[in-house]
Amino acid sequence: MGGGCGSEGSDGAEGRLTMALVKTERCESCDAVYGENHRITTAKPSKESLAAMLLGTLPERATDGCIIASASTPRCQHGHSSWLITAKELTI
Ligand SMILES: [Zn+2]
Ligand SMILES: [Zn+2]
Repeated sequence: MGGGCGSEGSDGAEGRLTMALVKTERCESCDAVYGENHRITTAKPSKESLAAMLLGTLPERATDGCIIASASTPRCQHGHSSWLITAKELTI
C-alpha cells in the first residue's frame, strides 16, 4: 500500500514573524512628528529676558527651554528655534 512515505513537510521555513514596527520619529521635547512644526512648550521670555539673551547676559533658549549651545545654529538639539527668532516672528 502506497502511503506517503518519507514526505517531509516543507513548511516551517518561514516561522519568523517580522514585526513591522512603524516607527514615527517624534520630537522628544514637544512630541511633534518630525516634519511638522514644533510646539512651543515654554512661556515666552519677557522682553527683558530676550534683550538679555541678545546681549549674551542670559543664555539663549529655544522654545522648549533648551539652551542654545552654539550661536551659529540658532536651534536646540531637538530642532526648536531660538526664542530670539520665534519672538520676532510672533511680533512681541
Ligand atoms: Zn519639538
Ligand atoms: Zn530642545
